[in-house]
Amino acid sequence: MKIARALTIAGSDSGGGAGIQADLKTFQELDVFGMSALTAITAQNTKEVTGIYELPPEAVAKQIDAVVTDIGVDAAKTGMISSIPILEIIAAKVKEHRIHHLVIDPVMISKSGAALLKEEARHALKRLLIPLAEVVTPNLPETEVLTGITPDTEEKRKEAARRIVEMGARSVVIKGGHLRGEKAVDLFFDGETFEYLTAPRIKTRHTHGTGCTFSAALTAELAKGRPLPEAVRTAKEYITAAIRHPLELGGGHGPVNHWA
Ligand code: PLP
Repeated sequence: MKIARALTIAGSDSGGGAGIQADLKTFQELDVFGMSALTAITAQNTKEVTGIYELPPEAVAKQIDAVVTDIGVDAAKTGMISSIPILEIIAAKVKEHRIHHLVIDPVMISKSGAALLKEEARHALKRLLIPLAEVVTPNLPETEVLTGITPDTEEKRKEAARRIVEMGARSVVIKGGHLRGEKAVDLFFDGETFEYLTAPRIKTRHTHGTGCTFSAALTAELAKGRPLPEAVRTAKEYITAAIRHPLELGGGHGPVNHWA
């Protein structure tokens, strides 16, 4: 049986709600064969991150080489990448293996407040990785860090989206989850046209892993060969369903529900 293949290059969340674990669960639900290249291990639950252990850059490179050269990768995503040397090696490997369908989730800070990307690595993320992206998926705080624009109006969000495409990304989805209001509205820009993706806002604090899950769903759909606008819409539907019936686990931000 033929199956689409997706690779996540990201950090491990021992709590199973975000990171590599969220990505692999999402791939599985969307009928895609999931593979992983770990960049870091976090000791984490729904309440806090209690430890971050980076892997050596060489270990990241070897994992990517191993899966690409044998199994093959139809689409890949990046999540937590904490340091400049790891960013550099991922950018080099994406180019070497010509990974065309690349989703970049510019993970910076967890909901529980832990810095997942070192501050000094922000510039390298913009310079090295964003130009390789088919699509970048920042939330509003990440949009502000990437562009220097406070995205508090529709016009400013559009300006920020243009700025991210000018950095070399082929497209961007600015996620509106941090906005207030009745609807959760994301802005998709492919370099030419803007599209709004709208879903009802679900009032819950159990949103641990939403960013990872959204970008993983997008990656899964691209791996299956879906056109980008369709992949973005399916990812939005997936994440909306996953937030609607949160799992009652742990005492903090509970994980999204992949069975929803
Ligand atoms: N831990 C890891 C390893 C992650 O990759 C991420 C997000 O990308 C998080 C934690 C943050 O998850 P959240 O902010 O949804 O709680």
